[in-house]
Parts: sequence; structure tokens; C-alpha cells
Amino acid sequence: MNRVIKFSIVILAAVFLSAFYPAREEKLVVIDPGHGGADAGARLDEIAEKDLTLAIAEKLQKFNSDTRIKIVLSRNTDHLKTLKERVEEINLLKPDLLISLHVSTHENVNEQGIQATVCANKDYESVSSVVAENLVASFPDAFEKQPVQAGNYFILRNLDSPGVLLNMGYLSNEHDRAYLSSEAGQNEIANTIVTAIQKSL
Ligand SMILES: [Zn+2]
Repeated sequence: MNRVIKFSIVILAAVFLSAFYPAREEKLVVIDPGHGGADAGARLDEIAEKDLTLAIAEKLQKFNSDTRIKIVLSRNTDHLKTLKERVEEINLLKPDLLISLHVSTHENVNEQGIQATVCANKDYESVSSVVAENLVASFPDAFEKQPVQAGNYFILRNLDSPGVLLNMGYLSNEHDRAYLSSEAGQNEIANTIVTAIQKSL
């Protein structure tokens, strides 16, 4: 058989097989626990946003049993890292997805719930929006779910990959605070986010 024909057959066979057996490449997800070090973020009494975001991020990494998905954290300890440093490091990793974790406080104690924000007018806006919708939808009904919004946060604006900023609740609200500051509540939130990641990638 002519070498060119042989070569063509090999290529055709590879294309045919790859259609049925797509490569199971590993997806990289960066979880960004908001704030850290001198920047405590939102605070209520002894509860600080920087501690909650790190605790939930660590659980989330531990709970991920999907071998197709690798989760890394943008910080593993309580130290200050600027937004510029964070986004530069994240962009070097070229992740398939970034989720930045935050909590808030509000002067209205009734303000509560989960809210996901994506950056408008970015290349990855539609992918990010699908992940954001999945994240919010995955939370139990005990959480008030706010519509996905577009926002101009530094980290999302400067990111070279799909990204969602997730506000996991309000420290000023009794219901949210109980969830966010308890071991069981943190486990539930972390598991919910892992499920949404697995569904999205
Ligand atoms: Zn924050």
C-alpha cells in the first residue's frame, strides 16, 4: 500500500476513534477565598469574611472527589494578597473557571441570600453566566436566591478565563450568619458549590 494512503487511513482512524473516545482532560478550577491578612473584608463581631471564605474554600477542595476536576486555591493561609497579584497568578494558571468567594453585610438585616456576579462584555460572559446560574440554582431552597447580575469587579474584569464572583450570604442576616458560621452550614455550602462545578464543566 502506498505510504500516503497508509498515513491517511491512520489519520482517519484516529479522527473516527476520537469522536467516540474524547480525551478526558482534567479541568482546572481556581477558588479565590476573598480578602485575607490585614484585609478582613466584611465583619460582624468576631466573624470575619476572610476566615469564612478560606474555610469554605478548603472544604470545597476536600469534598471534590471528581478526578476530572482539579481545584486549587488562590490563597491557602490568612495572608494579604492584592487583587492585582491574585488575578496575575490566576491568569498564569489558565484555569477553566475561577470562582471568587465572598460574604457581605448590609444595614438592612433582612437582606439575605446567594448572589452570583459575572463580568459583562467579556469573551467568557456566556460561559460564566451558565456557571453562575448553576451555582445559584444548586443552593437549597432555604437560601434566598437573587438573580445573576453583571458587575465590574477588578478580578473579573482582568481575568482571562470564565469567572464568577459568588456572594454566599450576609453576616448581618440571622439566617445567613447561622449557615456561614457553623460547621454544618459551611459543609453544605461547600458541597453545593462542588456539585455546581461538576455540573458546569
Ligand atoms: Zn468580599
